[in-house]
Amino acid sequence: MENQVIHMSAIHAILPQLQAIYPEDRISVNRAVLEQHARDQSAHEPHLPDAVVWPLTTEEVSQTLRLAYDARIPVTPWGAGTSIEGNPIPVAGGVVLDLSRMDQILTIHDKDFQVTVQPGVLYKDMNKILARYGLFFAPDPGANASIGGMLANNAAGIRTVKYGATRDNVLALEVVLADGRVIRTGSRSVKQSAGYDLTHLFVGSEGTLGVITEATLKLAPIPAHVSAAVARFPTVADAAEAVFDIIGAGLEPAALELLDATAVKILNTDPDIPPFPEQPALFMEFASSHETALADTLDMVRELCQEHRAQGFDTGVGRQERARIWHARHHLFEAHVRYFAGQSFLVGDAAVPISHYPELIARTAALMEEMGVVGSLLGHAGDGNIHTIVFYPPENDEARQRALAFNDAFVGLALEREGTCTGEHGVGLGKRKFMAREHGLALEVMRQLKQTLDPRGILNPGKVLP
Ligand SMILES: Cc1cc2nc3c(=O)[nH]c(=O)nc-3n(C[C@H](O)[C@H](O)[C@H](O)COP(=O)(O)OP(=O)(O)OC[C@H]3O[C@@H](n4cnc5c(N)ncnc54)[C@H](O)[C@@H]3O)c2cc1C
Repeated sequence: MENQVIHMSAIHAILPQLQAIYPEDRISVNRAVLEQHARDQSAHEPHLPDAVVWPLTTEEVSQTLRLAYDARIPVTPWGAGTSIEGNPIPVAGGVVLDLSRMDQILTIHDKDFQVTVQPGVLYKDMNKILARYGLFFAPDPGANASIGGMLANNAAGIRTVKYGATRDNVLALEVVLADGRVIRTGSRSVKQSAGYDLTHLFVGSEGTLGVITEATLKLAPIPAHVSAAVARFPTVADAAEAVFDIIGAGLEPAALELLDATAVKILNTDPDIPPFPEQPALFMEFASSHETALADTLDMVRELCQEHRAQGFDTGVGRQERARIWHARHHLFEAHVRYFAGQSFLVGDAAVPISHYPELIARTAALMEEMGVVGSLLGHAGDGNIHTIVFYPPENDEARQRALAFNDAFVGLALEREGTCTGEHGVGLGKRKFMAREHGLALEVMRQLKQTLDPRGILNPGKVLP
């Protein structure tokens, strides 16, 4: 880095200038407000920023960054704070740039299946509005995340198996660079071949390369016919084999989620869904414009599941029940936290090519047992992604070390199988230690990119790069 970022106390030097940009109700050094911006949804240690500001315009973001750049003050962008890898925790203090009030849908290009938005728009709110046009933005992390946070983490979710991750659904960005310059990347053309792909450089950069102030996203039509199915298996390995066959047969599920028996037990704590037998299960959804095609697909899926010892295959899931099941699935992380109340936890998030998925699942389940860790195994199986959630008593250091050792071994299993240490949660704080192993010399190129775009290291310092 050109220079070390100056320590947090320097904030006082620029406070008057920040107060000149922001009216009283959009800047705060209040302890309670700082605490709200000190932690995300993970168990990573919180850290207070020195000030929080709420810009309304790109110009305000630019002025803030110019100021911070000159004074070498850290700036951490903030969306909805729902990350689970410590991504928005302001570990070096400084200013948190809370983008939640830049929440306008700017243009709905319905004929092009596109929308241009500010970064603070929450995707669930946006999809309610887009539904009036028969359209939706497909990537869907469980929490009601902001579009800026989803772009910055390259979030994904249960629909990624059919529609791709956030990265696959963005066409153009407006980004404010560390020194305050404003650039536009990409275009609204779905085909783009003009020069380096800066749009996708900023996607997944976790606020370390620039601040996204506008995005043009791809939308999908809401499918006419949708059907859900739930299949139960004797082991998670059987379920994972069925996943491989379903994807291999080209059946294109709209969602394909794997839950182990513990995860099903915790799903059952949701009072709005019917209780499921506590067995490893696949929750699936298929979409089509023709009802008969949908029925044929479900028949084939049933056969494939039965080949892998499925003990139940329920397709009689109605529209309302389906919505309730997906709602419960989306909130399964919080349900785990409630179920293991008072315990600390570690969330794993690895992904591998689908051909390695059955082995990854079998080995991970065995590893949990061998290492005696408590928790569950669940994930977006259709795209080779699996999460582990491991709980341990906060005061028990031995159990904590065991949870960490389990997570290291779990990531190791994925990396040995041509996979990645994070399929969707991003690197944040917790995955930095795997970056060298996963990327080798490419990590040096990442450092050079960071140096070029943020020479003073003010943007979300302490994240992504080890
Ligand atoms: C219950 C639950 C379920 C979840 N399920 C999933 C899931 O299925 N899939 C998944 O991918 N994630 C999931 N997550 C994690 C989280 O919701 C996503 O990572 C989401 O993208 C975070 O968005 P956010 O708006 O909360 O961003 P934040 O947490 O506020 O920030 C995320 C990162 O983006 C940066 N950032 C924010 N806004 C901008 C901007 N405008 N410009 C530049 N950088 C910015 C921040 O500095 C930070 O590094 C889940 C979380 C919870 C709590």
